[in-house]
Amino acid sequence: MTERADELTPMMAQYFELTRQYDDALVLFQVGDFYEAFCEAAERVARLCEITLTKREDSTGEYAMAGIPIDNAESYIETLLDAGYRVAIADQVEDPEEASGVVDRAVTRIITPGTLTEDELLGGAANNYVAALAREDDRYGLAVLDVSTGDAYATGSDSLATIEDELGRFAPSEAIVGPAAPTDPFECMVTPYDERSFSAEQARERVGEYFGPPERLLASDAEVRACGALLAYAEYTRGGTGIGEDGRLEYLNHLTRYDPREYMVLDAVALESLEVFNRRSVRSSDGLTLVEAIDETACAMGRRELTDWLRRPLIDRDRIEARHEAVDELVGAVRTRERLHGRLREVYDLERLISRVSRGRANARDLDSLGSTLDVVPEIRETIADSDSAKLQAIHDRLDDVPEVRSLIAEAIADDPPPELTEGGVIAPGYDGTLDELRETERTGKAWVEDLEQQERERTGIDSLKVGHNSVHGYYIEVTDANLDQVPEDYQRRQTLKNSERYYTPELKEREEEIISAEQRADDREYELFVDVRETVAAESERIQDLADALAQLDVLVSFGTVAAEFDYTRPEIVEAGIEIEAGRHPVVERTEDAFVPNGASLDREHRVMIVTGPNMSGKSTYMRQVALTALLAQAGSFVPAERAQLGIVDRIFTRVGASDDIAGGRSTFMIEMSELAEILDHATEDSLVLLDEVGRGTSTTDGLAIARAVTEFVHDELGATTLFATHHHELTDVADELPGVFNRHFRTSREDRVVFEHEIAPGAAKASYGVEVADVAGVPETVVQRAADLLEGSETTAPADDGRTPTRTNGHGPTAPGHDGELASADDETVAGSGAIRDRLREVSIAETTPLEALQLLSELQSEIEE
Ligand code: ADP
Repeated sequence: MTERADELTPMMAQYFELTRQYDDALVLFQVGDFYEAFCEAAERVARLCEITLTKREDSTGEYAMAGIPIDNAESYIETLLDAGYRVAIADQVEDPEEASGVVDRAVTRIITPGTLTEDELLGGAANNYVAALAREDDRYGLAVLDVSTGDAYATGSDSLATIEDELGRFAPSEAIVGPAAPTDPFECMVTPYDERSFSAEQARERVGEYFGPPERLLASDAEVRACGALLAYAEYTRGGTGIGEDGRLEYLNHLTRYDPREYMVLDAVALESLEVFNRRSVRSSDGLTLVEAIDETACAMGRRELTDWLRRPLIDRDRIEARHEAVDELVGAVRTRERLHGRLREVYDLERLISRVSRGRANARDLDSLGSTLDVVPEIRETIADSDSAKLQAIHDRLDDVPEVRSLIAEAIADDPPPELTEGGVIAPGYDGTLDELRETERTGKAWVEDLEQQERERTGIDSLKVGHNSVHGYYIEVTDANLDQVPEDYQRRQTLKNSERYYTPELKEREEEIISAEQRADDREYELFVDVRETVAAESERIQDLADALAQLDVLVSFGTVAAEFDYTRPEIVEAGIEIEAGRHPVVERTEDAFVPNGASLDREHRVMIVTGPNMSGKSTYMRQVALTALLAQAGSFVPAERAQLGIVDRIFTRVGASDDIAGGRSTFMIEMSELAEILDHATEDSLVLLDEVGRGTSTTDGLAIARAVTEFVHDELGATTLFATHHHELTDVADELPGVFNRHFRTSREDRVVFEHEIAPGAAKASYGVEVADVAGVPETVVQRAADLLEGSETTAPADDGRTPTRTNGHGPTAPGHDGELASADDETVAGSGAIRDRLREVSIAETTPLEALQLLSELQSEIEE
């Protein structure tokens, strides 16, 4: 149908007007109990939500129509969001019974992936961010906001790569970008948003209104623009109800401005390969992520805070140590920890509650939850009152139970209030005289009606006479047909039924009006009172948010303490530089492996590049990750899984780990590998920790080795970064002889009747060939493996016994470099397989890429070569 206004009914004209105004959203238009979409939009909604497309006919024509029930609209809206739409909710904002013409409707909120506030849509406690990116000359400004909690951050940089790293931390689900700002760093819904709100002038004004003078708060115009535009967007999506006249979102009153250099940099690649928040692949789908493994928080705010601490580990020594000191105190204090944990479990999500309160969306239950949360604060405060830790003391001082709000809620809100606000029962008796009087009138009226039946029976002598109520006709006196002759004169007929008549008396009618009017006025009064209470609470949102933050921090510290006690973590000592770990463990793998083998690590400025060799599955990746996770945990403020740890502060963790496992769209895995490598070589400093796993595997052996070697030299000579480099390029271990800062470690396997991975790291390099092990692990029949092993043994050159002092390995490359701690290659380092072609061929085997069949094939070839 065409939408010519003169041909439309008023309702459809209203619909099309709204779709024009909100042309970047799907308008859902309330008609009674449904949200409707019409015409093309209806077809889209019907298809996506799998609901029936119906037809509507009016005087002007026929339209397609699709309706979703308001009662469970959330799941449909979720589907529409997932399909990439914004949803504009056009509610009836007028009582249909009171409307003179068509019912007035207005868009009350725009639901977008990054600005969700509905618990049902948020699905869980995790933060949900919307980001804004602005650009001014060469400067980028990034602002990030969680509308549901009020968490707001701003940062900036000259480097787009830095901005990308920051985006990796927040993983926003939606972004808006200003003029000249790029859209490609985002992996979410991106909208070029209204340029005016990105304008410096508008932005400055908005930031000023919300957070205070922008020049004191933010570092560049680009940041101001990003923040301003983001606030404008939040206002735009918030809808109209319950907000101050100027449209401000009062609960957004605190902005954290930070410099990316204040935190350890963890880009998306590192977070992913260390499996901090997400598992990397289906392969490890049964394992835990780091955050799951160490999350012992009691409340939703703590859970979000823990995520934040892991996402932004500190690099300031004092701040790190302050957290450690707090954890130290809590580890030992079992009873205190348990008491705090118990109380924190009773804490509701204050951040989301106060955000709903400020947006005028909180109901009486929300206020009730807020009140009961404030009620537990004094006990929590008292529990840490005597704490020695400065951090816990600081938290103690911020545990403000906001007594005015607490007592207001206790006095005003009824116990166990209903979720609806307009039907009464939300305000406690005794809070308001007028309300109490109205309720009393209502009550006495109803009591009078209740007594009426008995009275009228006595007066009329009709024993079967009944007094009742129905919603259409109100109160009535019912008399069956058999007794109609006894009906007194003052009865007036109200309704005729099959076997009876219904009457009222003037007095009953009067009482009825009294009851209805009192009830209606009481409900209205309750709503008014409630809104007043809600606004009074909203005015304290800053204090409540501060309390929320203090509770969240405490919850994380208690959680760190619990994990440390339960899993035997130790307090790391922060030192100038280097990594010295004794008996370290992988915080996640140790939970799933029955017998996890602890391993140490020792790196310092002089010995900063460790080359790790060993067969597939021997534990190299686990080891490297455990070192990185130890640094990450320590700087987040946690204790670490080790017997002892001395750690220098790391400015950034880089990882280039096994892209060969991933199926990446578009670019070849080698390309990804090389671009990740480029990023590392560009940005690592001598304070960085670099994990390299199998660099150069995606190309030929010669190329790969050349690249691996060049990288090692560059990292060693130019960057000076602390580096762990796992490789199957055995030749790389020779670099240790040539560069003073490079040393070898390997994972050994023991051979009894079958290869056993010991998962234990040892000094020196591993032997070069693992063909037989691979064959064994791959399930090649025992006899074949054994025969191959015999053949290999026969061709090995026997080295003199290693006495632990003289380097004796004769692998054709001279002596193995000793570890920097002076340890030498240990006795069970096996000598490399014999000379010539067989050795070379074995060395060239790329274990990761060898299938069992190929391994068999290779064995058979080797066998025939030897026999020749
Ligand atoms: P690689 O990188 O050498 O191929 P991984 O680090 O992936 O080996 O380890 C292979 C498997 O061995 C892991 O999945 C883990 O279950 C187990 N593992 C690794 N390190 C240890 C350890 N220190 N103690 C016990 N098991 C371990």
